[in-house]
Amino acid sequence: MKGKEFSVFRRKLNKTQQQMAQLLGTSVKAIHSYEQGWRSIPTHAERQILFLIAQMNKKESKPRSCWEIKKCADENKKRCPAWEFGMGDLCWFINGTICEGDVRNSWEEKMIMCKSCTVLTSQIFQ
Ligand code: SF4
Repeated sequence: MKGKEFSVFRRKLNKTQQQMAQLLGTSVKAIHSYEQGWRSIPTHAERQILFLIAQMNKKESKPRSCWEIKKCADENKKRCPAWEFGMGDLCWFINGTICEGDVRNSWEEKMIMCKSCTVLTSQIFQ
């Protein structure tokens, strides 16, 4: 996630930099640095922001499971942690999912894929 995107999401959550620092368990200085692009945004912070936005939007419409949306084959579904742990609407939150038949090696690789996937975008950009 880039600083500009972080800032847009923070405003979407209706939080000041101070409140965002408290939510993420970090300093206001760190939030400022993320938004200015001086520091890269850590994985745990990106994950939490996306989670909070998705939870906020969930109040308006209940998301469908990823395996329904993506019409996953049974053999993939049964190997996928999203199915195993019943996280059909939070598949993007966990690593190791079998998307397009394959596991991505890192959170960064996974996010590249998820950010162009309707499962995530439908929960974040409403
Ligand atoms: S690409 Fe990401 S958002 Fe889409 S189904 Fe897979 S884990 Fe979920």
